[in-house]
Amino acid sequence: MREKYDYLIVGAGLYGSCFAHQAALHGKSCLVIDKRSHIGGNLFCNNTQGINVHQYGAHIFHTSNKKIWDYVNSLVEFNHYRNAPIAKYKDRIYNLPFNMNTFYQLWGVDTPSKAKDIIHSQRLELNGKDPVNLEEQALSLVGHDVYETLIKGYTEKQWGRSATELPAFIIKRIPIRFQFDNNYFNDTYQGIPKGGYNILIEKMLEKADVKLNIDYLSNKKELDQLANKVVYTGMIDEYFDYCYGKLGYRTLNFEHIELLNNDNYQGNAVVNYTEKKVPFTRIIEHKHFEFGNQPHTVITKEYSGEWCEGAEPYYPINDNTNNSLYEKYKYKADKESNIIFGGRLAQFKYFDMHDIINEVFKIKF
Ligand code: FAD
Repeated sequence: MREKYDYLIVGAGLYGSCFAHQAALHGKSCLVIDKRSHIGGNLFCNNTQGINVHQYGAHIFHTSNKKIWDYVNSLVEFNHYRNAPIAKYKDRIYNLPFNMNTFYQLWGVDTPSKAKDIIHSQRLELNGKDPVNLEEQALSLVGHDVYETLIKGYTEKQWGRSATELPAFIIKRIPIRFQFDNNYFNDTYQGIPKGGYNILIEKMLEKADVKLNIDYLSNKKELDQLANKVVYTGMIDEYFDYCYGKLGYRTLNFEHIELLNNDNYQGNAVVNYTEKKVPFTRIIEHKHFEFGNQPHTVITKEYSGEWCEGAEPYYPINDNTNNSLYEKYKYKADKESNIIFGGRLAQFKYFDMHDIINEVFKIKF
């Protein structure tokens, strides 16, 4: 421990860790703290019986930015995992994202033109009416079969509301592929760190001092003394003691289950359950991210819920009300000196991992 650091970084998630790594490359010293008992934030993997369990939700690294891909690969080797989730609806399975395999499974069509004809005719059922809610928006984009089977129930569980009560803008476009191609992401590069995400984060934090189980906001005065500048990656509204009110999030609950007598539960890392009556949204089978051949397996059922204080905030709800509330907090944050607000909670924005690294790359050290 030093007496004084260049940076006190609040949060050992990807933003804080990547910041610490870049700062060290520029000769700066960092103290990284986190209120959790581990590093990595939501990327943290809990090794359970030799399987890296993505404790806070499945994470697949993907990017088309070569600089970012080379950067993460300079820290840890990535495997060749390709995300190809499947959807389960009433005991039938369908490939995702929506592609020729899905259309064959739905309608038995074997050519793109036959699939296009069906989608086109179903899209016309809305009679050119301007969509006023998510349901109508989805129907106008893909027609009722894809919507009813693969979108409706899943989306309603994700948002905890009926699709007719959700705004149309949530779904701006629905990617449809007229090839037989189940690769979920369109990005050039994709994979999972060999040995899990903790290795990536440990590498990033190699030159920093790290202290866990410390809540910054409860010890702000003493902690601020320890550095010239603070990097804050927690919730921006909490930092300002919710003075304008609380920002809205969706939360998730994870039910992790070890199956000792089963070596392969579902044959795929990600299976989405698109029926409304199934309470969880998806089941993750973690070993498939790293091509594990253990004699046992670990699965996680993922449930979506409304965020309230005390729960983990996962997805910012970027509707107009929350966005204008965030702007008020941002205005206040911009007036603070010696503090950088960064990452998904402090910037109130959903960022993929490559976006987070890109945000840190913008910092002038
Ligand atoms: P976090 O990981 O949340 O880190 C913030 C840290 O700050 C936390 O550890 C927290 O404990 C700490 N902290 C907060 N307040 C305080 C305080 N007061 N005192 C001390 N510490 C504090 N991205 C992809 O690219 N691919 C994916 O497949 C993917 N899947 C995802 C799945 C889910 C379910 C979710 C929610 C996100 C997913 N993401 C994915 C996005 C990815 O998780 C984020 O890009 C990344 O975690 C953001 O890092 P962060 O450091 O901003 O936030």
